[in-house]
Amino acid sequence: MIEIDTLLVKVASRCNINCSYCYVYNMGDDGWTEMPKFMPSHTIKILTERLKEYLENNPERLFALVLHGGEPLLIGSRRLENMLLSLRSVLPEEHCISIQTNGILITDNILDICSNFKTSLSVSLDGPEKINDANRVGHRGEATYSRVLKGIEKLKHHADCSFLFAGLLAVIDPNSNPEEIYNFFKDVGSPNVDFLYRDGNHDKLPYGKASFHSVEYGYWLTSLLDVYLADQTPIKIRILDDVIRLALGGYGVKEGMGITDFGIAVIDTDGTVTKNDTLKSSFKGADRFSEKWNICSHSLVDIFSSNEFADAHLLQRANSAACLACPELGVCGGGMPLHRWKEGEGYENPSVYCKDQLHLINHLRTKLGVSGKKIHA
Ligand code: SF4
Repeated sequence: MIEIDTLLVKVASRCNINCSYCYVYNMGDDGWTEMPKFMPSHTIKILTERLKEYLENNPERLFALVLHGGEPLLIGSRRLENMLLSLRSVLPEEHCISIQTNGILITDNILDICSNFKTSLSVSLDGPEKINDANRVGHRGEATYSRVLKGIEKLKHHADCSFLFAGLLAVIDPNSNPEEIYNFFKDVGSPNVDFLYRDGNHDKLPYGKASFHSVEYGYWLTSLLDVYLADQTPIKIRILDDVIRLALGGYGVKEGMGITDFGIAVIDTDGTVTKNDTLKSSFKGADRFSEKWNICSHSLVDIFSSNEFADAHLLQRANSAACLACPELGVCGGGMPLHRWKEGEGYENPSVYCKDQLHLINHLRTKLGVSGKKIHA
């Protein structure tokens, strides 16, 4: 059976905003239109039973459960409380439960409920107003920055803030100033920031990338790395911490950097179990299994023990000839599957961010004086 590190539970299939780059709504997959708006209470009850059964079969296994969407806080405080009551009845506090939110619907009541059920919140925010509002907009194109910041302020001022505020999640804008972005996030007072590459692949080049060979994101990340390493009191930046640890001979902990066996499963609002939902950006339905698995009719133990689930899990491993021969495979990992997609070739390619990764790794090795075969980006 594949061991699961993260279970992403889609509790709402709609969102109160409409970010231009969103892989759920704006990259060609409209599967969300067929989903219930919210995960129904009977599906939550079944999910709880499935988790109980899974843990009885894997008593040592700890995993993180992430309430996701759409915008998960659209479910409202009453549904959230009932859901967390149910989930916590089988998931003791050693298992992290968190919510990935755009922050706009955070209220003191929501925070009290999260505090009661040991559930933290990570907020999506791309940077200062101009950067954030370039893409993170409402359904009529209106700005969201000030509403997000209000939510973050509530989070920061809650009595249980040190637990509740898990951090910020930002999508990189390669045309922004990394130093300005870093200082902004430090001023916001987040305990950490996780930066993500923009979605894209070899057919649909990510925003800001001129070609497979260009290194716009590599330049941006090396500038961020320089600012980060020069700071005597830095905030945590997951992508940089990962690449530093890997270059020093350590292990990767999350998908996207290094060779990991990160196990993820996604459960949609109707109970359907899917692959990593970021695959939606490759083509319509790319995140679907051919088996129509649903927690209402299948146990998680059976699904995670199946060959098709194992094949999807294996997809995370670099599989192209270029990556398998690459001296930096151990640090880079070959990139996330969605970044490797090319029509006609599938996922058997290096990441579309290959040259950016090499530029970052080479720069880091030079900066830290850590050996590794230097290869040209
Ligand atoms: S740097 Fe490029 S070739 Fe090397 S492992 Fe990463 S994606 Fe593959």
